[in-house]
Amino acid sequence: MEKYDLLPLQLQREGLVQPKQFYIPTIADELPITLVHSKGYYQALQQGKVSKALMRRIGFPYSYRLFLRECAIVEGTIKVALHALRHGLGFNISGGTHHAARHWGEGYCLFNDIAIAAAYLLHQKKVKKVLIIDLDVHQGNGTALIFRNNPDVFTFSMHGANNFPLQKAQSDWDIALPDQCDDETYLNTLEDALKVLYKKVQPDILFYVAGVDVLKEDQFGRLALSIEGLKQREWLMAEFAYKHSLPMVVCPAGGYPKSLTLLVQGHTLIYKATHYYYG
Ligand SMILES: [Zn+2]
Repeated sequence: MEKYDLLPLQLQREGLVQPKQFYIPTIADELPITLVHSKGYYQALQQGKVSKALMRRIGFPYSYRLFLRECAIVEGTIKVALHALRHGLGFNISGGTHHAARHWGEGYCLFNDIAIAAAYLLHQKKVKKVLIIDLDVHQGNGTALIFRNNPDVFTFSMHGANNFPLQKAQSDWDIALPDQCDDETYLNTLEDALKVLYKKVQPDILFYVAGVDVLKEDQFGRLALSIEGLKQREWLMAEFAYKHSLPMVVCPAGGYPKSLTLLVQGHTLIYKATHYYYG
């Protein structure tokens, strides 16, 4: 997708990220991936033996290149999470593939990069408690299923009630918003939720799935946020992490307005917000 090429350029143009701050990930191995996904599913993807029905569910035609791309996204999110633990903040330019579950992928997601990175940190005993805040307009159903019986990971998803997936999974906390939800309702709901979340979870790290498909211009989202509303959302999230000294990992997830300019502008907002707080 073009946004993955344009976003780094825009971030440099606006002076939000310096060229030396970029890191190009290698390919994640089987082990971190199979902390979350079944060996059978991983190997089927690696060997090109995924059924046609499952590839239809994923939404992409199979290629080995696609498999490698997804492994690179996973490695990126793991590296970013380790960076965030040391420096407070880390961004993956890609990632947020939150529909992938243990035995299958769907909705253009093969592996669940955030879930894998969270499981990896727990496995390595780098953290004890993980909070995942998923504000993409589509529910983080894969993440919810993966961690449904795991008390060390709290999954929060705030999404459109009538968006994909129509059959929702159960996160630890879901807020389903009505169609055409406006800035005020959205921001008030989020602000209230954030107040509860920190006290309730007391996390060691936050994974933020920052989909911009909440914008009213989005072709698939059904909400009605303005770009100003999205800006305020990102400021709330940056402030939340900053005031609690909570290491934050950001993955961009979805965004599908017709205008590529608006899409890139939307995705830069969380960088601007964190730049404001963290410098
Ligand atoms: Zn989405």
